[in-house]
Amino acid sequence: MQLLEDRIRRDGVVRDGNVLKVDSFLNHQMDVAFFQELAKEFYRLFRDSGVNKILTIEASGIGVACMTAQQFGCPLVFAKKNRTKNIAGDVWTSKVESFTHGRIYDIIVSKDFLGPQDRVLLIDDFLANGAALMGLIELVRQSGASLVGAGICIEKAFQPGGDLIRGMGVRVESLARIRSMSPDGGIQFC
Ligand code: 5GP
Repeated sequence: MQLLEDRIRRDGVVRDGNVLKVDSFLNHQMDVAFFQELAKEFYRLFRDSGVNKILTIEASGIGVACMTAQQFGCPLVFAKKNRTKNIAGDVWTSKVESFTHGRIYDIIVSKDFLGPQDRVLLIDDFLANGAALMGLIELVRQSGASLVGAGICIEKAFQPGGDLIRGMGVRVESLARIRSMSPDGGIQFC
């Protein structure tokens, strides 16, 4: 998506460790009007798939996922990163290793909000190693819901997540795919 690539070129900052900072419009300050354009594109891509639930993971995916849910006219559920040792009984649960923090989280979704009647579109801000999506896919599997696909804002295509998830037969649509990036060499898109 040209609009997103242009914005990343203009406002993205590449840090050591393969981290792209997009805090000025996506991960800290949120450009809501811009989010709406991303959400419309996700709707265009998945509108014929019968989506009736959007699923993301807290926290940075929630903004775009929220706007996407509005396009589809359906609820958004976000998986919570569980910080307590006792996981309540009535939840689906899986584990995610955070790319940016290097920690392992339990993630949970209440059984009240995800079940066999749901046709789920996953939305997230970044796809890197695929751990976040794998965790969400596992929640969908446990719940008996149908997985329609995943909509990603920025895929770092030089990391293995995209191939991993597509290799599982999941439809992944990324609005911008980064082929390579470095702090001094700029950003190249696929
Ligand atoms: P994965 O689980 O695919 O390795 O990473 C996905 C998650 O890590 C995303 O939800 C995002 O929050 C975070 N993430 C991964 N790479 C980056 C990056 O380069 N920049 C930012 N800001 N977040 C990232």
